[in-house]
This record gives sequence, structure tokens and C-alpha cells, in this order.
Amino acid sequence: KNQGKNNFQFFTESTNQAALRKSKLAIDIRKGLEKGEFFIHYQPQIDLKTNKLVGLEALVRWVHPRLGNISPAEFIPVAEDTGSIIQIGEFVLRQACLQNKAWQDAGLPHFRVAVNISSHQFSRCNLMETVHTALSESGLHPKYLELELTESIIQSSTSAIETMQTLKAMGIHLSIDDFGTGFSSLRYLKLFPVDTLKIDQYFIRNIITDPKDAALVDTIIKMAENLRLNVIAEGVETLEQLQFLQQKNCDQAQGYYFNRPLPPEEIERLYQPASSPIN
Ligand code: C2E
Ligand code: MG
Ligand code: MG
Ligand code: MG
Repeated sequence: KNQGKNNFQFFTESTNQAALRKSKLAIDIRKGLEKGEFFIHYQPQIDLKTNKLVGLEALVRWVHPRLGNISPAEFIPVAEDTGSIIQIGEFVLRQACLQNKAWQDAGLPHFRVAVNISSHQFSRCNLMETVHTALSESGLHPKYLELELTESIIQSSTSAIETMQTLKAMGIHLSIDDFGTGFSSLRYLKLFPVDTLKIDQYFIRNIITDPKDAALVDTIIKMAENLRLNVIAEGVETLEQLQFLQQKNCDQAQGYYFNRPLPPEEIERLYQPASSPIN
């Protein structure tokens, strides 16, 4: 009984602490945005037939002045609760477009930059405006921009189809992120004008050891092929996983096996043309 009480106290204390950390983070996110503490790392996406780079996923990073590196898995949900996600999302979209255009101008091969869009951002009517601004101020051709949407976005917004159709008509590439982990029905695949399915890393992790994961991934790849959708596997960490995906004719892959998300300088080092003049 005693221990039960202690456990309860421990629970409420840690819950309070978590709530406290959250509310502190909420304030610090706003300050951090003003002070320019956010930046972007880019993770290569590789075509499995040509072994060439086809895209880079933009992933936001935050080094808190006191707490150091904070994972987007922690601060994005806080930003979503407080509305700061709108400013973060705007920053990432603009910065990613500017960066991609700068790379193109510097003679790097042309690839898409993929930006994660949260459901709050998507349901706000100014998403289109933000996208227009990011494209026009950077001069990036829309075909080099990809937006990663989750299944929850598609569910939560009644006007999702129209927004997606408008984005598609502009030439922007659309993908479904974390495919298979949300609550979407297959009906959405028929209704929504998406180009790419991103198989969640949850299914890739045990692909070699768990026959069920292997079967699911195999099936998703086949389904994508039948629907003429592009399919990319996330979280590829080993050669065995890569070989499995190649054997199943998966189009693309992304993961630590190839590269971690990298700062822009590292991307340049990797993909700069060999003959580029030094000045
Ligand atoms: P996500 O969009 O599914 O991004 C993939 C996550 O998997 C990234 O984590 C990436 O660093 C990680 N990853 C990539 N390859 C591997 C691998 O081989 N193994 C493992 N274990 N992990 C791998 P990250 O950067 O911590 O981001 C976490 C999540 O935060 C993202 O998941 C996305 O949902 C969200 N996020 C990140 N940046 C943004 C952003 O700019 N806007 C919004 N709305 N959400 C973002
Ligand atoms: Mg993503
Ligand atoms: Mg994902
Ligand atoms: Mg994820």
C-alpha cells in the first residue's frame, strides 16, 4: 500500500515535470524562432535502380541555448499545441526552397526537396500562400518541391482533396509520410492525388527477422506499383534491408545506411560537381 502511494507520487511528480518542461519549451520555441535557433538538416533519398540521389528530406533542428539538441519528435507536438508550428513550418518551407535553388544555381544536380507539413499547417487556409511565397521568393521550380503529408492530415481536413489538387496543379510533388501507421483507409489512395508512399520505418526495422513485416512491406510495394505510385522506404539501416527492398523492386530508400540527415555543407561536399572551380 505504501509503495503504491509512493508510486503514485512519483507518477504525479514526473507528470508535473513533463508538463512544466512542455510549457517552458513552448515559450522557448517562440524565443528561439526570433533568435534564429532553428535550422535544417537534409537527408538524401536514393533511387534503388540508378543509385542516384533523387531527393532530400528537410528535417528541422533546434539547439536550445541551455538544453542543447532537442528532437523534433519532442518539440513539434508542443509547437502544434501552441500554434508555433505555423512559424516553424513557414521557416522550413522558405529555407528549404531557397537552399535548393541555391544548390541548383551552384551547379549541383537537380533534386527535389521534401518538406514535412503538419496537419495544423495544412488545415490553415494560408498554406497555399506560404507555398506561393516560398516558391516565388526563391525562384525554385515547383517540380523540385515535395510536400510530405500524413494520413491524419488527410483525415482531419474536409477540404484536403481540393488543397491537394491545387498543389498538384502547380506541379508540386505530394507524398504520404509514415504510410501504414495512421488510420487511413485504402479509399484515400483512390481519392487523393498523391505521387509517393513513404513506408514508415516501423515496418522496415524488422523486415529481415519478422515475416509479417516482410509481407506487409512486400504488399505495400506491390500495391504502389499497381497504383502507379512511387514508393520509398524510410529508416533503412543495413545492407540486408536494402537488398530485401531491391529484390522487391522498391523505387527509393532513405536511412542511416546511406546517410544521416546532414547539414547543408555536407550535402555540398557530397554532391558538388567534381570539376567545380575553386574561388
Ligand atoms: P519523419 O518525417 O518520418 O522523418 C523521419 C525521421 O526518421 C527523422 O527523424 C530522421 O532523422 C529519422 N531517420 C532517418 N533515417 C533513419 C534510420 O535509418 N534509422 C532511424 N532510427 N531513424 C532514421 P527526426 O529528424 O528526429 O524527425 C522526427 C519527426 O519530426 C519527423 O518524422 C517528422 O514527423 C517531424 N519533423 C521533423 N522536421 C519537421 C518539420 O520541419 N516540420 C514538421 N511538421 N515536422 C517535422
Ligand atoms: Mg517526413
Ligand atoms: Mg516518416
Ligand atoms: Mg515519423
